Amino acid sequence: MIRYASTKESIEQAVDDVNDTWRTRATKHTRKLLDDEKYSEGGPKWSDIKSAFMSLQYHKCIFCECPEFERQRGTYNLDVEHFRPKNAVEPWPKANAPKQYPFATGGVAGAYYWLAFDPCNYAASCKECNSRYKSNFFPIAGVRGLAGVEASNLQAEGPFLCFPLGDWDEDPELLIDFDGLIARPASADPARRRRAEVIIDFFALNEREALQIERALFITLFAPSLTASVTGIATPKQRAIAAKVHTPAAPHANCLRSFERAMIANPRRGREIVEKAQEVVFDSIEI
Ligand SMILES: [Zn+2]
Repeated sequence: MIRYASTKESIEQAVDDVNDTWRTRATKHTRKLLDDEKYSEGGPKWSDIKSAFMSLQYHKCIFCECPEFERQRGTYNLDVEHFRPKNAVEPWPKANAPKQYPFATGGVAGAYYWLAFDPCNYAASCKECNSRYKSNFFPIAGVRGLAGVEASNLQAEGPFLCFPLGDWDEDPELLIDFDGLIARPASADPARRRRAEVIIDFFALNEREALQIERALFITLFAPSLTASVTGIATPKQRAIAAKVHTPAAPHANCLRSFERAMIANPRRGREIVEKAQEVVFDSIEI
């Protein structure tokens, strides 16, 4: 997970740019939702503004940073995801989950129905992050916000999940980085560590084999250029490739940037990470 430089205004502008009547219709329907105190159909379609979020996020899942491989085929495999659920919030972790936490995570709650048509409550995510993991969960450390408060103004809830668009939440890279292929808390600060722990568990970032293989693939792909860059022997082409790691468009950018830092701090550890990544790739294709 990384930050995508944007603000409430730039997100709204991106929506206006792809559909200049969407927000007007959204505001009108939101007034009805607030009057009814519940979610109902009848607002503008989310699919009409999906492309705005695809562009803001460089065609990567907002949560796991997998690239949208289907893009070249002209089909979308990312969903418009409601960060705060428009339906009733289910408790996370579930009561029968193997791991429980020694701190409160918000429990069951009503729906964030008034945010169903707030663009600052949207992001595009892969179907696995959205359907299998995100669902109607939204763990928080504090007290749920009041109906009518905009998505960009609800940080007092103490959300555990981090919103990588806009400028009202923390930079995800202050919460999570990687040791090789493994996501881990990036900070010693207790609140940040708790958030990182929840995010990593919530999206099963270290348990999903496909994610491990993708991270391994991209480390393998970037390793020659990054290694040459770090040791000062890179060709201009290799320097250009290594620099891509610092653009928000790089798939699994947080993992790649962590790998680059490991290479700089401890080249031997860097080589171990590359060897492990190659092993994971070869195992995945059974060579
Ligand atoms: Zn994902």
